[in-house]
Amino acid sequence: MATGQLTVNLGAVQRNWKSLDVRSAASTQTAAVVKADGYGLGASHVAKALKAAGAENFFVAAAEEGAAVREAVGDANIYVFSGYMQNDASLFAKHQLIPLLNSPQQLQAWKTAQGNRAFGLQLDTGMNRLGFEPDEFRAIDSDANDSCLFISHLACADEPRHPMNRQQLDCFRQMTDSLAANHGVQRSLAATGGTLLGPEFHFDMVRPGIGLYGGLPYAQAEPVVTLSLPLIQTRKVLAGETVGYGAAWKATKITTVATLAAGYADGIIRAVGNVAAAVDSAAIAAAGGANKDRPAPNADARLSVYAGEIACPIIGRVSMDMLTVDISALGEVPAKLELLNGLQSVDQVAAAAGTIGYEILTACGQRYQRCYVHS
Ligand SMILES: *Cc1c(COP(=O)(O)O)cnc(C)c1O
Repeated sequence: MATGQLTVNLGAVQRNWKSLDVRSAASTQTAAVVKADGYGLGASHVAKALKAAGAENFFVAAAEEGAAVREAVGDANIYVFSGYMQNDASLFAKHQLIPLLNSPQQLQAWKTAQGNRAFGLQLDTGMNRLGFEPDEFRAIDSDANDSCLFISHLACADEPRHPMNRQQLDCFRQMTDSLAANHGVQRSLAATGGTLLGPEFHFDMVRPGIGLYGGLPYAQAEPVVTLSLPLIQTRKVLAGETVGYGAAWKATKITTVATLAAGYADGIIRAVGNVAAAVDSAAIAAAGGANKDRPAPNADARLSVYAGEIACPIIGRVSMDMLTVDISALGEVPAKLELLNGLQSVDQVAAAAGTIGYEILTACGQRYQRCYVHS
């Protein structure tokens, strides 16, 4: 474990939740997705903060996660995306978790083991990952009426103009319109991306995840995390000398190189050392639309770490437990530098590495000393 520090601003998480909440019609509830330990940031802390902000519905991936969220929030609805696995029978009962059943087999097993306790159904409207197919759904007939919630998930919601969005919306409505009208079953289709697609996609409940944590496609999100990495050593490197594995970076002038105590074993995936920002700033724009509040990376920019407002480029390859940066621009040697903060978002780090903000958050979130602030 590196001694880097990840600071999570729970006030920003609450404000992101509230601003996504405002977008919904008055009759729509806004839930919070806190799977994967709250996208790596600590599900208990995040869920408690969101409960205080007014959230009453939480979604997790697996039953154990649900148990942890129950301890944190007390009274609330906690839904489990993966549905019902028999090994988890006692967790579901003890913590009053609501499975989103994904198949006729899961439905049967649930009814047999848990009687008439509350459940929801996940429907597959085209993503082909989880949920009842339309013909399986028709076949369960009146059991569907007993469901408290129908959900489905959009495959392409971060691309507003993608035709799949409308196709999946139509499919969801075809599968559920009459059951919702006649039996009052609640419906939820939208994650963060779907929430931003507009009211037609909102139904009774929206369930954003990444937007709460400051990531695209919610371009207006407030940054939530600050990741600061301790500096171990500095040295002067002369023109012509190289830095790191593969001698991949060569100095063209005298350079002050700092070695920081975090590497790919700490979630700073090796590809962040790539010079790939140019292509990916276009991808950021495509995913999030105009994102004027955040500077896009320069054409041939390297990703940086920050000392205050001063950017220090990452040079050379990322090692397992270390990375090297050019701090020639600094007047004095700082004790630590920041990889994530208000100046550099998870999506900018992700873009440099050819991945998405979700992966950077979940990769980094767990590995540092975490500290929570409320500002
Ligand atoms: C992860 C997930 C969400 C939340 O998605 P975001 O893109 O993070 O908002 C919602 N629904 C399902 C089924 C999910 O798996």
